[in-house]
Amino acid sequence: MARKPLIVRTISPLRKAIATFRKKHGGVALVPTMGALHEGHFSLVRHARKRAGAVAVSIFVNPKQFAPTEDFGSYPRNFESDVVALSKLGVDLIWAPTETAMYPGGFSTAITPGGPALAGLEDAFRPHFFGGVATVVAKLFLQVTPDVAMFGQKDYQQLKVVTRMARDLDLPVKIVGCPTMREKDGLALSSRNVYLSVEERRTAPVLYRVLKESAARIKAGDALAAVLADGRAAIEKAGFKLDYLEGRHAETLEPVVSAADGPIRLLAAARLGRTRLIDNLGV
Ligand code: AMP
Repeated sequence: MARKPLIVRTISPLRKAIATFRKKHGGVALVPTMGALHEGHFSLVRHARKRAGAVAVSIFVNPKQFAPTEDFGSYPRNFESDVVALSKLGVDLIWAPTETAMYPGGFSTAITPGGPALAGLEDAFRPHFFGGVATVVAKLFLQVTPDVAMFGQKDYQQLKVVTRMARDLDLPVKIVGCPTMREKDGLALSSRNVYLSVEERRTAPVLYRVLKESAARIKAGDALAAVLADGRAAIEKAGFKLDYLEGRHAETLEPVVSAADGPIRLLAAARLGRTRLIDNLGV
């Protein structure tokens, strides 16, 4: 029988639990999530297990990273089944703060990330997003004080923003990026995939297929601009409303003209009905 993780909702018991884990197990790894957990999150937990004696998973649907027009209210929440899954994975602690534990009345401080947070990708379509992410992740780091924290490459710009923030603020935590977990047909796992209708679900893998085909063409020497133009057309032809398909420098996310400008990461976001999908791939 799997041991149920300790579930903590307020700061004071969290600090006590972390102190105990640190004494008993040495290092602490944190996997920040918004719950509605799937195999992508579980892979982060397995990576975390390899890197520290104790594994903490945070579950917090962060209101600060949603615009008023977005899906904060309807975002999937499956706390009980998340706990069962994390028990099976041997997670030690679930940090599931109440909204007032995270943002007590009068809360008025925020982190404003620059650099990769202003790359003109997700930030161009969700201008509130990275400020909300950076603020909550900085708080999670200060609350849990992890030695290492796992983030998915699925949210590639977010991974770069968090890595930059940790370095800029001298946060004593190692940020580790983990590979994207996918369905058999290539669709990146996401808590929001439950929003897809049957027909949209059939179309959804086109996004990854285009990334793969584009990466192969760039590797073979085709011009970046032409490959991106073809990729954009293919995504729209499949029925998506495209937000962006871009090729950027894999580290800085700055624009590149050709493959000679450095390792390229292709990044895309597109909407199918009410579902917004994002994905990315290295060339
Ligand atoms: P979320 O709950 O969507 O905020 O995601 C929590 C963490 O899980 C983030 O670091 C995500 O990048 C990561 N993640 C989400 N989906 C996947 C996936 N398909 N593969 C790997 N990591 C993922």
